[in-house]
Amino acid sequence: YGKIHGGNQVYAYNKQMSQTYNELLLLESDIRKAFKRNEFRLAYQPKVDVKSNHIVGVEALIRWEHGKKGNIPPSTFIPIAEEIGMIHAIGEWVLFEACQQFMRWKKAGAESVMIAVNVSAIELQQTDFLDKVKKIIKETKMDPNYLEIEITENSVMHNTIECIHTMKELRKMGISLSIDDFGTGYSSMGYLQKFPINYLKIDQSFIKDLFNEAGSAEIIKAMIQLGHTFGLKVVAEGVEGEKILQFIREEACDYYQGYFYSKPLDPIEIGRKLKKPN
Ligand code: C2E
Ligand code: MG
Ligand code: MG
Ligand code: MG
Repeated sequence: YGKIHGGNQVYAYNKQMSQTYNELLLLESDIRKAFKRNEFRLAYQPKVDVKSNHIVGVEALIRWEHGKKGNIPPSTFIPIAEEIGMIHAIGEWVLFEACQQFMRWKKAGAESVMIAVNVSAIELQQTDFLDKVKKIIKETKMDPNYLEIEITENSVMHNTIECIHTMKELRKMGISLSIDDFGTGYSSMGYLQKFPINYLKIDQSFIKDLFNEAGSAEIIKAMIQLGHTFGLKVVAEGVEGEKILQFIREEACDYYQGYFYSKPLDPIEIGRKLKKPN
């Protein structure tokens, strides 16, 4: 092989591979330690009504402040956590923490708004997922009518029958469901009809491309219409500018999230934004 591809090239390739592998092993053991070290926390990004510009909800997003490496984004460590089975412990912590935070805001006299939690496919497919959710709701005294679960499009496509059952049970409990990153999965439109969902979240890649790529406007319009046809509320993700907001407002998109309104914030900052006027 060395002769065909050139010895140096193969060597360089292998070296890089093993570095990546070591890096992975390190992250793995660090994820396991992160709980004991209290390195996880949640940031909350407002979800805003397009018409009134009022906050209608917040989305909990996990943050990992690694003792030595600084901030590690969820796009890096969530897939590893899924692989090593740590996603169950992480997911449970996220849901518990988010519900508890909701109650803290409430006790502090803040206006109650929906709180959304991202759940990975592996968690949703776990047989005791529903029991875990029920237990956390009971322990935190959370009102499930204010709880929303975001699931990515790909994740619901796998174990369809079981997923539908789980989703229906969650809905019976009063919990709302969102399809996250809509438009990026290998999906058939059929599930929009089958799944008991409330919200479609248009993936930010489409929103970003709006004024750069021909056809993006048409795709966004079509997705909003599609959502509305199925009686769903549509959320635009990654809104960074006024013009994009104006566009989705004209297209009657219901809610938006993005840096234009606010980046994910810590609980204290959100609490201030949710303060009821006296
Ligand atoms: P997501 O659920 O689609 O969350 C939206 C991501 O876009 C967040 O990144 C958010 O900070 C970012 N974002 C929001 N507005 C803007 C904007 O205007 N511009 C840009 N460039 N980005 C924006 P984040 O927090 O890094 O999370 C990435 C993904 O990691 C999430 O995508 C979600 O799939 C996953 N994730 C985050 N927290 C959790 C968690 O607690 N559990 C699980 N299973 N997954 C999580
Ligand atoms: Mg999400
Ligand atoms: Mg998303
Ligand atoms: Mg995403």
